[in-house]
Amino acid sequence: MLALVAIVTPAMIVAALGWVSLRQWERSTELLRREQARDMATMAAEKVEMALRQIEDRFVQRVQEVVAARDVDATALEAVLAGEPLIRSLYLINGRGQLLYPRHWRSPQAANADRDLARRVGDASRGTWGRGDRREVLMAGQLCVVAMVNARDAGPLLAAFARDPDVLRRDVLAASLASLGSGVILAVLDEHGQPVYARTALDQAERLLAVSFRQSLPQWQMAVYAGVDDATRAAVRRQVAVFMAAFIVLCGVIVVGSVVTWRLIRRETEMARLKADFVANVSHDLKTPLSVIRMFGETLEMGRVAEEPRRQEYYRVITREAERLSRLIENVLDFSRIEGGRRRYDIVPTAVEPLVRETLEAFVYPLAHQAFKVEITVAPDLPEVPMDAHAVGQALANLLDNAIKYSANDRALGVEACVEGGELALSVADRGIGIPRAEQARIFDKFYRVGRSDTQSRRGSGVGLALVRHVAEAHGGRVTVESSPGAGSRFTLRLPLAAGRGVPGA
Ligand code: ADP
Repeated sequence: MLALVAIVTPAMIVAALGWVSLRQWERSTELLRREQARDMATMAAEKVEMALRQIEDRFVQRVQEVVAARDVDATALEAVLAGEPLIRSLYLINGRGQLLYPRHWRSPQAANADRDLARRVGDASRGTWGRGDRREVLMAGQLCVVAMVNARDAGPLLAAFARDPDVLRRDVLAASLASLGSGVILAVLDEHGQPVYARTALDQAERLLAVSFRQSLPQWQMAVYAGVDDATRAAVRRQVAVFMAAFIVLCGVIVVGSVVTWRLIRRETEMARLKADFVANVSHDLKTPLSVIRMFGETLEMGRVAEEPRRQEYYRVITREAERLSRLIENVLDFSRIEGGRRRYDIVPTAVEPLVRETLEAFVYPLAHQAFKVEITVAPDLPEVPMDAHAVGQALANLLDNAIKYSANDRALGVEACVEGGELALSVADRGIGIPRAEQARIFDKFYRVGRSDTQSRRGSGVGLALVRHVAEAHGGRVTVESSPGAGSRFTLRLPLAAGRGVPGA
């Protein structure tokens, strides 16, 4: 049990650590991916801003050139405007807030709107006066860029201009972003979070993050979306799947290993118990006939038995117990030879009937003593069968010994030898206590004894049937049992009639 815990605990710890590090690795990969996306977004935003600034600086520069040379010259300014498609409209306002350009309005409504715009630009740009830098001003949803120019006569002026959104999208955003960001989708979002520009459709894409533009496009954002065919992510997912599979296999191995180890330990414990029982049983089995022999021997030696028939009876008891002792010792020795792989079989054609009768002879006294009814049926004209006569005789003796041992009040024994299905069938039947069905397969295992009190109360070591099975299999045969509790049992040793299938020396 402790060994099992010692195996399972570290294995579970290793598995748990594996799981945690896998999750951490996945998380850090995700973080790295976001970090890369952030770098990409920042770079893209800078590129857009640079492109925008370049166009607008060029435009302001041209306006400056015009007003420096010709003051507020509408025709020249028109030409500059026409040369820069990104700039949609231009307003020039002097220090007193008067709109100097344009002077002619397209319509009265436009005039009002433009005047209003000029006023607002003037108000909002008050701080810009004298500083000479540029600033972006958001006015009623319209973005105006405001810069200072110096006119020849009118002095310093505020030049305010608005961008054309279509041109912005086409000439600046698309042109700057076309070559950037493989594996991800770059998109520009307006102040409402709506995409103004995206290289491909964003329907299924997952937004990773968005960074704000610094100045040129206030409240707009550069967003990065994971493409559907994001290779990095697919690689990570694949790796995770591989690790997961390995992890599951590891867990499976741990579970199977634990179960196997647990069963092994249980088997070993059971075996150790059976071995301990075996030693106790054999010692007991050796002691009982020895004390009987000693007691009867001493009684005879002291000359206390006067009548000859009783003396004869005592001699028989001594012989019977001595035979039982040698059978037991032979069983144990044979068993140890089998366990050590040293048991040899000398298989030669043997007559069956004499073997059966010789084996039974050793049991004549105990059978008569316990008033057993014995029926022997040996089929006539049985052929000689290849076998190790000593081993088969021993196996038969074990079956007879068991039949006597496990009989109750109905003392009847049937011994049969015949040819059945091309095999020699040697069977021993009793009307004894029988064996429960569930135990029938196990009784041939070494040391195994049926755990019922009526079995346990009888002497036995649990190796008799293991030997019988070994003998049968060494001859290429088998041993079978038919039994029902309370009705009796029939054990049949089946040996092939022809040599060749056996395993001599097994
Ligand atoms: P044992 O020395 O205990 O008899 P065996 O290997 O000969 O060992 O038999 C194993 C077990 O099989 C016995 O303990 C007994 O429970 C059962 N068994 C064997 N033969 C018989 C039988 N003829 N009738 C009932 N039970 C039997």
